[in-house]
Amino acid sequence: MELKYEKKDIYSTLNKKEIEQVDVYSKEYMKFLNSSKTERLCVENAVEILNENGFSDISKKRSLKAGDKVYLVNKQKSIFAAVIGKKDLIYGTNIIGSHIDSPRLDLKPMPLYENHDVAVLKTQYYGGIKKYQWMSIPLAMYGVVYNEKGEKIKIAIGDTNDDTTFTIADLLPHLAKDQLKANANEFIDPEKMSVIIGNIKDKEAKDSKVKTTVLKLLNEKYGIKEIDFARAEIEFVPAFDAKFVGIDRSMIGGYGQDDRVCSYANLRAIVDLVKENHTFDKTVISLIVDKEEIGSTGNTSMTSQVFDMFINMLLQKTGSKADRLNVYYNSKMLSADVATAVDPVYDDVSDIQNSNILGSGIALEKYSGSGGKYSSSDANAEFMSEVMKIFNDNKVMYQIGTLGKIGKGGGGTIAYILADKGVDVVDCGTAVLAMHSPYEVSSKFDVYMTYLAYKAFFKS
Ligand code: MN
Ligand code: MN
Repeated sequence: MELKYEKKDIYSTLNKKEIEQVDVYSKEYMKFLNSSKTERLCVENAVEILNENGFSDISKKRSLKAGDKVYLVNKQKSIFAAVIGKKDLIYGTNIIGSHIDSPRLDLKPMPLYENHDVAVLKTQYYGGIKKYQWMSIPLAMYGVVYNEKGEKIKIAIGDTNDDTTFTIADLLPHLAKDQLKANANEFIDPEKMSVIIGNIKDKEAKDSKVKTTVLKLLNEKYGIKEIDFARAEIEFVPAFDAKFVGIDRSMIGGYGQDDRVCSYANLRAIVDLVKENHTFDKTVISLIVDKEEIGSTGNTSMTSQVFDMFINMLLQKTGSKADRLNVYYNSKMLSADVATAVDPVYDDVSDIQNSNILGSGIALEKYSGSGGKYSSSDANAEFMSEVMKIFNDNKVMYQIGTLGKIGKGGGGTIAYILADKGVDVVDCGTAVLAMHSPYEVSSKFDVYMTYLAYKAFFKS
């Protein structure tokens, strides 16, 4: 009898056919990443996938019965999808919750100015970034803007082959003597993170000649004026595609894997189970939310009561007499968010035997938070036991991890928000290297195992 627990790497357990499946899934995932660089695009692509698979807008359904497939889009930036189970909602639901907002640079409401013949756009960073990582890399511009008539205009520049790109020019090392004296958290002044947008002077303008050129081009292309930036949401994100990493093509590098890797698996798990004609005993819910990276605030975040509204709609349309709080109390959830993988060169921040190793399976984390478990949602032993059994029964390879050494930092997910409502929740997602950087790295085997884990959980 083997008494010791040891991590196993996924690759050595797979046969040739399974490795092919990993590659197929990885490529589909990378395609999703490349076409979903903002939360709005994630929602648009999710709706397309759901519609193709027989899901429909819950508001168009008068009543719901077992097997019905519905979704609710919350203000273009978050989405809840459900398949109705045979049992009444009082018996609880199986929820997988992930987020689709990723660290990035947002435009300020009045962003445009010029200095020394270069026009730039002022940004405000979104989420926890190491600011220097966003300097001197190609950036793409995505978003929506409304003109004075209230018409919505979509912007997407920088990700197709002949597109132009944008960048923030970092200071050359030759003149950076003073800049480099400051500590890494301070040497990039966020007020100087301005994106270069033009350099040609308008011949007719008397002043702000480059700014005039930029405004004229924006007006030609999109019919917008400077004031319209105030009714816009424009995001700058890395202008490069996700790709395999390593001579063995074992890893995936790409922007926004936190947390689109879990969101894609979440979506694919529910959709593929429907495709496989699985009949669900309990209602299953994929919840994919926004604003996790800035503390889950606002009406598209997990703390908004729109998810309560969705549960109310499910109750009413299925004719259940259950109280919403009872539904929550009997529900179970995986908080599907990325975890930290032990870094090969910065392993001193991790307690190795309580950390996730790249390629060793989906990370199951009893708690996150910081210091003395502050702000953590600490899953109870009973629920850990239940989830571990589900994974064991379904041959899902998982590993037990924590965020890092106590006192080295910390972080959280949406887990606590559902736990507050009474749901049994545990953190469970893909481990990544270089989290929140423009090029996060995951193991394609973990990525695939995440999908298998979520399928197993939905079926349980
Ligand atoms: Mn996350
Ligand atoms: Mn994050």
